[in-house]
Order: sequence, then structure tokens, then C-alpha cells
Amino acid sequence: MATIITDECINCGVCEPECPNGAITEGEDFYEIAPELCTECVGFHGEEACQEVCPVDCCIPDEDRKETEEELLERAKQLHPDDTFPSLDELTAETSPPRNPDRKNANL
Ligand code: SF4
Ligand code: SF4
Repeated sequence: MATIITDECINCGVCEPECPNGAITEGEDFYEIAPELCTECVGFHGEEACQEVCPVDCCIPDEDRKETEEELLERAKQLHPDDTFPSLDELTAETSPPRNPDRKNANL
């Protein structure tokens, strides 16, 4: 599921440069994530980068946008056509948050 930023955001901007897809922007009131650009960091990191760095834990999984790891990997490939990604079978706890039980919001 995509990550969503709640109204507890303190507009610190720390998350914005961490997103591998440029999905995070400064919104009118709080920072925002474009869900069509969020891949939950699949193909890049073993944790959702924004969730890891947010000092007030207001980047959380969006329960209303559940997507499979396969869908997220395909999105990453479409967003970065010149990059090479592992295949679905090759994803690991270092390159796909759903495979990493130690990530920040694994229990949400
Ligand atoms: S989970 Fe990853 S891809 Fe999604 S907004 Fe956060 S940093 Fe970007
Ligand atoms: S790191 Fe958290 S508090 Fe800071 S801008 Fe991003 S969502 Fe808001």
C-alpha cells in the first residue's frame, strides 16, 4: 500500500529528498505523497525511506491503497525505464519492504 502523510506532519522536509521516485512534495498545509508515484520503495530499499526518517512518525501505510509487491515493482520499472531492477523472485529484505519484518511500520 502507498504511504500517506497525516496531519501530524511538522513540515520539516526531511522525507522529500529520500524518496527514490520524487513522490513527496510540499503541500498546502503538509507534505504530500502522490500515490501513483509511491512504490513503497520496492526495488530500492528494504524499508519505506520516508517512514524511516520521519521524526514524528506521520508517514504511515495507507490501508485504503493496498497493492501487491508485483504491482509496486512494475510501477518502479515504469517510473525508471532506464534502470535495472531485480525480478520479483530476486527481491530481498534489502530491496523490498514487504520482505523485511524489521522495518518501522511492519506491524501496522
Ligand atoms: S514509501 Fe518510498 S516510494 Fe513511497 S513515498 Fe515513501 S519514500 Fe517515496
Ligand atoms: S519527515 Fe515527516 S514531519 Fe517531516 S515533512 Fe516529511 S512527513 Fe512531514
